[in-house]
Amino acid sequence: MFPVPAAPDIAVSVSLPCLEEPDDLWFSENPADLEQAKVLCAACPVRRTCLSGALQRREFAGVWGGEILDRGAVIARKRPRGRPSKADLARDAEIAAARAEAGVA
Ligand code: SF4
Repeated sequence: MFPVPAAPDIAVSVSLPCLEEPDDLWFSENPADLEQAKVLCAACPVRRTCLSGALQRREFAGVWGGEILDRGAVIARKRPRGRPSKADLARDAEIAAARAEAGVA
């Protein structure tokens, strides 16, 4: 069983999407599942605290606070296995530029 994604310092007296949906959605190898988890996190009342805690703990993987973490850092999206297509690389560049312009890490 996966650890509960909620940061340990969060009082769980509210409804958290990651406690209501299957755990493996937040730690899936399938990029589409992770994108779905990100959408579910968007409505979470502790999203910012969750992300802050995950970054402090340098979580190795999973969706935390609506972001995908990879070895402690936020990544725009998880690539499927195999060599990325030119379309994937172009989309990654667009996402990185938009995040930089918005001041998002
Ligand atoms: S932001 Fe996402 S991972 Fe964090 S507690 Fe909320 S639903 Fe769970």
